[in-house]
Amino acid sequence: MNDASNILGDSPYSIVIRNPELLTAFLLLVACEIVWRKFVREEEYGAAEAAASVGIAIGRAVAKPVMIFVLAGLYVLVYQWRIFTFDMTKWWSWVLVFLGADFLYYWMHRFKHEIRWMWADHAVHHSGNRMNVFMNFRLGWTGLIVGTWLMHLPLVLVGFPPSAVITTYALSLVWQAWIHTDMIGKLPQPFEWILNTPSHHRVHHSRNPVYLDKNYAGILIVWDRMFGTFQEELEDEPCDYGLVHRLTSVNPLKIAFNEWGNLIHDVRNAKTWRERFRAAFGYPGDKKAVIEAQARIMAEREKKAKAKAAEQSRVARSHAAAE
Ligand SMILES: [Zn+2]
Ligand SMILES: [Zn+2]
Repeated sequence: MNDASNILGDSPYSIVIRNPELLTAFLLLVACEIVWRKFVREEEYGAAEAAASVGIAIGRAVAKPVMIFVLAGLYVLVYQWRIFTFDMTKWWSWVLVFLGADFLYYWMHRFKHEIRWMWADHAVHHSGNRMNVFMNFRLGWTGLIVGTWLMHLPLVLVGFPPSAVITTYALSLVWQAWIHTDMIGKLPQPFEWILNTPSHHRVHHSRNPVYLDKNYAGILIVWDRMFGTFQEELEDEPCDYGLVHRLTSVNPLKIAFNEWGNLIHDVRNAKTWRERFRAAFGYPGDKKAVIEAQARIMAEREKKAKAKAAEQSRVARSHAAAE
C-alpha cells in the first residue's frame, strides 16, 4: 500500500494533518468561523451537521485505500504508454501540469453535475445546508465506481508522472479547503477575476435557481468565464446552500447513499430503456427548465437595473434643472 501511496502522492488530508502549519491554519479557520458565526452572525454553528461531515470523512478514509490500490496499478500502466516524457525538474513542466490538471478538474467537476451517475457521488459534497470548512469533509465514497479518476489519465498518457499529477490535484483540494466559508467576503478584483474564491464557491454550493450549475473551477475561475458557466455572487440574492431537494439528515450513511437511492428508484420506475438510460446517465433534473428560469431571472434583473438607471438619471436631470 505504501508503494501505491508513493506512486499516487499524498492525499490532501494527509498533507494537512502531517504539515503543522497547514493544520494550524485549518484549526484557526474553524475557530474563527465558530466565533464569527456566534457573535457576528448570531447563528448556530450547526454542530450536528459538522459531526456528520466528519463521519463522512471517516467513511471515505476507509474506502480510499481500495481506490489507491486499484488506481496505482492503472496509472503506472498508462504512464508506460506515455507519448512524451516531461522532465519535472523543469519549472515549466509544473506550470503545464498545473494548467492541465486545473482544466481537467473544471470539466470533470462539470460532468459530475451534469451526468446523474457521477452526481450520485458528488451530491454528497453539496448536501450541507450551511457553508463552513466542514463542507470539505463531505466527499463521496463511490469515486471508484463513477470514474472520477478518469480525469487525470490524459495527463499521465501525455507524459506527466502520476505523482506530479496527483500533487496538483492535492494542491487543488488544499486550495478549496479555505474557500468553503461565508466569513470571507469578496476579494480585490484581480483575485476575483482569476481565482476560485470563497465568493465564487458560495455560488457553486447554492440552490437558488440563478446559481445552479455555475462556478465549477478548482483553482482558476477563468475556465468558467471561458466556457460560459461563471456567475457572480449577487448582493441582493443571498446564497441558499444545499441540494435542490434539501437533505436534512445528519446520518453519514444516509448522506453518502441518498442520491444513489434516488437514482435506483428512478431507474426502476422508468418505463422504457431510453428513460432508464436517462435516469442513470442523463442530467439530474430538468436542464431546459433550469436554463429557461436563469434566462428569465437575468432578463428581469436587467430590466430592473435599466429602470433604476433611468430613474436615477431622471432625478439627476430634475436636480440640475432646479439649480
Ligand atoms: Zn460541485
Ligand atoms: Zn465545494
